Amino acid sequence: MENTETTPLRLHAAGTDYLATDLVALCGDRLGRLPVVLRLLMENAARHMRGAEREAALDALRAWTDTGTSEAEIAFQPGRVLMHDTTSTPALVDLAAMRSTLAEAGVDPAVLNSSLPVDVSIDHSLAVEAFARPDAPAVNMAFEIRRNAERYGFLRWASKVLRGVRINPPGTGIMHTINLEQLATVVAVEARDGAAWLVPDMMIGTDSHTPMVNGIGVLGWGVGGLEAQTVMFGMPTMLRIPDVVGVRLTGALRPGVLATDLALTVTQRLRAIGVSGEFVEFFGPGVPTLSAGDRSVVANMAPEYGATTGFFPVDRRTLDYLAQTGRDAAQIERVEVLARATGLWFDPAAEPVYTRSIHVDLDAVDMHIAGPRRPQDLLGYGEARATLAALDFRPRAGGAEAGTEAGADAEAGATADIAAMPRHPVAIAAITSCTNTSDPRLLIAAGLVARKARALGLRAPAWVKTSLGPGSPAAADYLARAGLLDDLSAVGFDIVGYGCTTCIGNSGQLLPVVRRAMADGAVHPVAALSGNRNFAGRVHPDLDLGFLMSPPLVIAFGLAGDAERDLRVDPVQVTADGRAVHLRELWPTPEEIDAALARSQDPADYRRAFAVATANPLWHALDAPDTPLYPWDPASTALRRPPFAALTEGSLLGRYTAHPLLVVGDDVTTDHISPASAIPRDSEVADFLVARGDDRDDLNVFASRRGNWEVMVRAAFHSKTLKNLFAPGAPVAHTLHVPSGEVVSLWEAAQRYRAAGESVVLVAGERYGTGSSRDWAAKGQRLLGIRAVLANSFERIHRSNLIGMGVLPLRMPAGVTPVTLDLRTGDRIEVDAQAEDIAPRGAVAVAVHRVDGRVERFDATAAVETQLEVGLLRAGGVIPSTLQKMVERHGASASVDVVAAH
Ligand code: SF4
Repeated sequence: MENTETTPLRLHAAGTDYLATDLVALCGDRLGRLPVVLRLLMENAARHMRGAEREAALDALRAWTDTGTSEAEIAFQPGRVLMHDTTSTPALVDLAAMRSTLAEAGVDPAVLNSSLPVDVSIDHSLAVEAFARPDAPAVNMAFEIRRNAERYGFLRWASKVLRGVRINPPGTGIMHTINLEQLATVVAVEARDGAAWLVPDMMIGTDSHTPMVNGIGVLGWGVGGLEAQTVMFGMPTMLRIPDVVGVRLTGALRPGVLATDLALTVTQRLRAIGVSGEFVEFFGPGVPTLSAGDRSVVANMAPEYGATTGFFPVDRRTLDYLAQTGRDAAQIERVEVLARATGLWFDPAAEPVYTRSIHVDLDAVDMHIAGPRRPQDLLGYGEARATLAALDFRPRAGGAEAGTEAGADAEAGATADIAAMPRHPVAIAAITSCTNTSDPRLLIAAGLVARKARALGLRAPAWVKTSLGPGSPAAADYLARAGLLDDLSAVGFDIVGYGCTTCIGNSGQLLPVVRRAMADGAVHPVAALSGNRNFAGRVHPDLDLGFLMSPPLVIAFGLAGDAERDLRVDPVQVTADGRAVHLRELWPTPEEIDAALARSQDPADYRRAFAVATANPLWHALDAPDTPLYPWDPASTALRRPPFAALTEGSLLGRYTAHPLLVVGDDVTTDHISPASAIPRDSEVADFLVARGDDRDDLNVFASRRGNWEVMVRAAFHSKTLKNLFAPGAPVAHTLHVPSGEVVSLWEAAQRYRAAGESVVLVAGERYGTGSSRDWAAKGQRLLGIRAVLANSFERIHRSNLIGMGVLPLRMPAGVTPVTLDLRTGDRIEVDAQAEDIAPRGAVAVAVHRVDGRVERFDATAAVETQLEVGLLRAGGVIPSTLQKMVERHGASASVDVVAAH
């Protein structure tokens, strides 16, 4: 739409005339005091909002510089959407199911498409099956395609049939690396009313690490799949003008200290001040000392420091990055012209107003690791020993001989290996994740450690599973050009493919010797990884300890093989001839890294490697229909039409008295609520799949089944580490069904309650839904019949996903917690959440009816931020709301009854 209210700015770049939103005219002399992220939101609001709402939004943004906070709502219309295979599969399955529903209602299904470009990266399903061998990428890719053929065929159908959906096939890399290297324009050209406009590139992604692209000045953040669907269906996303935390950087990183160390430090510092959902922006004279690659590492970890963004504005180093990754000169000129003309260009001397701010002295940042279970638990790189010692793990007496499994295949070698293992062996050493494999500097540093280790004849011990999973296929080119690929291979770190691998839990099997030693109780193994999360079970279902660290440190810990080694003083290894090799001998100097980096880089790599990977013949050979309606296969165990994509789904609001289905404590993650990792072969989910013809030894990961609601609802809360306070001691994903007094699976309990017309709620502690932006975490709860979640606090994306599924998030008042509530068998919770009374942050009356007749009352707060969210709750969620609108807009020849489910 044309911007009628403000005269556009006229710009000239790369030989062409453009128009742009005149932020200087809109904001006057307040512009320099507004954080850059809010300048971008102002630009977006000015371009997309209209009339009185637009004026109110702009006034509120201007006034923000007086108060540093605001209650006002603004609309945000991103220019594009980014998804990965496991979030896109359910989103696109929903779309396919909605098309089927519309067709049954007499509406042409082809009217339903995305209104925005959607890029889908197939990156989350690559597993480390083969490793430490040169053909590992090909072996793992073949394995991935075979395992996921039906789901991938569906995604190919979506790319053929749904307008605007583009798929980046397996092998093209990790979504956030692709975003940095290929998709981000930083400044886009948009045709508006016959004129060419320059507009800032702004986007959303269905993944919490979407802010990685903030490192090059693109405003974007992670949303739930359901919020993305809202945008894909043409609605803006509404948000309260965010509070903005400023991180003032001064100084420069010391030699040896890497971007990973800074990211872990920032994570610890911002978690310490309780950042929760705010936008974070970096400013100050330290910013220009960081490359765009360094900045992107720090930006990536925004969800780990509790923030929505981790933004670095555009400057000369951003332009350098664009040139290094093969962007053409005209594009780079457009970025510079727009940024300089509209107040978006970074000024290291500027001191904008922030809601609150902290100072990080880059000179004071040290080499770090974080763990063993949370990314914010920052440690010096030699402090793992003390942390692990505090766990006081004592190997079971008898060791290898004690276990029947070890006894059964008691080859002398295996027994000797077990005997040689330390009590906390490094079972996985993985250079993994978009966070730390997108910046060439980090991989080059790892390669240089490998080179020095190779020269000394070092190799990882027999129990360490080593892997290198870069975010981009260009990494193979630049590592090879620097001669480092061979060095990495020589110490066991061959490339295993280009995808999320270990970071998302697709680490494959632990080595047999580790499995045997674990079965014997001889060891408590640890993962050393360059990922961003180390929650128990995240990296591997059997590992509850993991340390996050830079790629070169991963190599050092992998070579040491012992997580308790203090690498400040202990040798990494002692060579065969008795020479103790210390980390300081292996660690590269900044000059060595710079020299190898300079030798390795060719801007042409990025486009060329991506094009080669996009032509993936295995992908293009997959069967994929091209009919407007997806032909559902009733025998499929991968893709099932979900029941909530129906016109008969209604609002869950109302006044009701509910049984607690589940009561959980603090820090329940979306990995607990909807696991992504391997499906245990002895689980009820496995039994369900095997009964339908699947192979018990090849069930793949939960994440690969997100197109099958019948699996996912059974997988809900399938986590060994989750404690159900309502039924302590119940097996995994089980609870107490109160009327019968039986402990049954959650799904069984939910079906019984539903059949009896009974409502259920869930009670949780602080930070409910922390972790990945997993819409199945919300969908699973809806399918379990949960009408409201009463928690002390919610993680931002999960809160939004619950609302997207029509489930009401309620914040309990201070002093009321799952522990103080002390729910006993027969206690019931009354919730008065009538549709007409629900308001953003409005009070909702709750009464706890004790089984002995006592009644305790309190007011909860609706964790609802905007009127749009109120509307979604009243309609039963994004999908029913969209279906109802489509039927109204496009007419229906069949009659449609929209009825409330409750
Ligand atoms: S954080 Fe890990 S799982 Fe998420 S996109 Fe990056 S590599 Fe993949």
